[in-house]
Amino acid sequence: MHEISVLVKAVELAEQTAEDNGIEEISYITLEVGELSGYLPVFFEKYFPIVVEHHPRLQKAELRMITPRGEGLCLNCSAIYNVMECQGVCPKCGSRSKKILGGQQFLLKEIGYEETPSA
Ligand SMILES: [Zn+2]
Repeated sequence: MHEISVLVKAVELAEQTAEDNGIEEISYITLEVGELSGYLPVFFEKYFPIVVEHHPRLQKAELRMITPRGEGLCLNCSAIYNVMECQGVCPKCGSRSKKILGGQQFLLKEIGYEETPSA
């Protein structure tokens, strides 16, 4: 389950970014988990509360996720289709030759926090 290690890295990055910017409390982080990234969002949801235990700035943070679709361009007939839904096979011509157009990314997309009013 490599979800844990990438999640730890994302949380550490969020923590570091918060520290660098003087953010005391992160209210949410958004992860972009592509359909073809190989990571299962359900695991991130499961482990997030455990991982943030060691990160004071993230203890109240909510985990949000965006899951960009995994699109493939058929190299045989040029159809664009969803690789997950079609199990890697072009629905138009049945070819498996394709170029992946997106959905392979995993990244920390956004860190959300409340602006503390400056006194
Ligand atoms: Zn095709």
